[in-house]
Amino acid sequence: MATNRTFTMIKPDAVANGHIGAILNDIIAGGFKIVAMKYIQLNEETAGNFYGVHRERPFYGELVRFMTSGPIVAAILEKENAVEDFRTLIGATDPSKAVEGTIRNKYAKSIDANAVHGSDSDENAAIEGNFFFSMFERF
Ligand code: UDP
Repeated sequence: MATNRTFTMIKPDAVANGHIGAILNDIIAGGFKIVAMKYIQLNEETAGNFYGVHRERPFYGELVRFMTSGPIVAAILEKENAVEDFRTLIGATDPSKAVEGTIRNKYAKSIDANAVHGSDSDENAAIEGNFFFSMFERF
């Protein structure tokens, strides 16, 4: 995957609260093109693999429980400087610290149920995108 791409998930809280459409609007208005997208539910194995880097952190069990609690939207997004610009668009991990107007500021309730995921590096964007999408599922 080219380095002008990032990977996102609309997390179970935002899906359950009816924010899929509004979040996709914000993403598109932010200049991102959707190059792959699917609506799926993670299980313990897939969520555990995705968040494997956090396995030793105290919130890991709760994170896997939360991420498997309902469907998510997974997507690969394209834009120049995608990883950094998308992290700016979503705001800080803790929504109470997220800048006004960011996706987490508008749609997230807590540091764990924080509405969206955004890759933190080009390398992880490629790993995460490849985890969810085969080469036949992305443009
Ligand atoms: N998380 C949590 N408690 C914390 C920190 C993080 O539940 O104290 C969850 C939260 O859903 C976050 C995810 O773990 O989005 C990954 O954490 P990271 O620090 O990588 O934040 P992000 O890159 O998502 O902003």
